[in-house]
Amino acid sequence: MTEYDAIIVGARCAGSPTAMLLARRGFRVLLVDRATFPSDTVSTHLMHAPAVGALARWGLLDRVVSTGCPPINKYSFDFGPFAISGTPRPIDGVATAFAPRRTVLDKILVDAAAEAGVEVRQEFTVEDVVVEGQEVVGIRGRSANGRRTTERARIVIGADGRNSQVARAVSAEQYNTKPMLQWSFYTYWSDLPIDGMETVVRPDRGWGAFPTNDDLTLVVVGWPYAEASAYKADVEGNYLKTLELAPEFAARMCAAKREARFAGGAVANYFRKPFGPGWALVGDAGYNKDPITAQGITDAFHDAEQCTDALVDVFEGGRPFDEAMSEWQRARDEHSMPMYEFTTNLASLEPPPPEMQQLLAAVHGNQEAMDGFVSVVAATMSPVEFFDPQHIGEIMATGEGAIAGAMHA
Ligand SMILES: Cc1cc2nc3c(=O)[nH]c(=O)nc-3n(C[C@H](O)[C@H](O)[C@H](O)COP(=O)(O)OP(=O)(O)OC[C@H]3O[C@@H](n4cnc5c(N)ncnc54)[C@H](O)[C@@H]3O)c2cc1C
Repeated sequence: MTEYDAIIVGARCAGSPTAMLLARRGFRVLLVDRATFPSDTVSTHLMHAPAVGALARWGLLDRVVSTGCPPINKYSFDFGPFAISGTPRPIDGVATAFAPRRTVLDKILVDAAAEAGVEVRQEFTVEDVVVEGQEVVGIRGRSANGRRTTERARIVIGADGRNSQVARAVSAEQYNTKPMLQWSFYTYWSDLPIDGMETVVRPDRGWGAFPTNDDLTLVVVGWPYAEASAYKADVEGNYLKTLELAPEFAARMCAAKREARFAGGAVANYFRKPFGPGWALVGDAGYNKDPITAQGITDAFHDAEQCTDALVDVFEGGRPFDEAMSEWQRARDEHSMPMYEFTTNLASLEPPPPEMQQLLAAVHGNQEAMDGFVSVVAATMSPVEFFDPQHIGEIMATGEGAIAGAMHA
């Protein structure tokens, strides 16, 4: 029986880059997915600058650009009485976002893994992990033709999304959990002009829009989870009625044509312990949050690099597995926690508390502060840095006139 260094379950944003990076470091990798590629998945697909930077590091950005997917250099937030609009700060020299269709992005990632020497098996469903003693040593699964096989590896990596079979099989511990917060539906429109990434925030409602491949614009509309049944009762009617809360946006919709069915849903918010004897979890399998700030792909790429580095330390450097993986988990959580809190607060779709409204009003009109705010959403500036009391104090000090104006509007 072939023995791999790593078997990776799931070949999208987390799995394919992890497989590719391990193979590029000389390891023998099997990557399996029950899907075939190209294929779509339920997800909008705004990819912030840190993810774009990762694609550039991996030599894959040109492939995304050559699909005609437009760059996104401006983020704007319409809060009703005032708007905040700016350009994210660069990180590693990159400030641009892209929103390639998942049919496009995931195929580029799987192909890059195969080119790196990964053995890719599509239409292969993992049914269970193989455990010997306390340790995961492989997977059992079924090919499209129904043939069942067992494969062994030094590590099994679950990159199998939020309903991860691997996480379930190893009973991965969950922490910092939060319930589902908002239900969103999205679809694609032609003839809908859009200026970068546009977000509109209204009480108990919110939506985002950005350009993607084939001259289409994706518009995703969210309602609080408590109203999900009412939303689902008439998806199209409720979606379009929500857009009327911003008349200028609704006017642009008049000439637009819907080019796809509605898709969407809600997700639970959690962290999972991402490793144990013989196993690891990357991407949504290990950490998931509401899509309102569109961090999932960016985080999946980050995980791919960080988990690979930890495993290389173990495989090549002889570092104890628990030590290397605990350090990765600690770094992942420290990096993610502020954005997790920011995201889950936004996803409640509740009006911001008065002090936050005052801050946002002060940010409005102050270009440096607006660039800072959009950088938080674009994941190029930590919420810790932006919401630091000294930074807030500086913004408030220069924004008193703006606050008064915005509050009167
Ligand atoms: C409505 C919505 C909107 C979103 N919008 C954005 C956004 O704009 N920007 C953003 O960055 N993120 C967004 N996200 C989050 C993003 O989709 C995820 O974070 C991202 O897809 C995670 O990638 P992944 O590789 O971890 O998992 P997935 O993309 O879920 O891939 C998991 C793969 O595992 C395979 N698999 C699962 N189980 C098995 C099995 N037993 N055997 C074999 N294969 C298996 C599946 O077929 C799948 O291909 C959104 C999510 C939702 C739900």
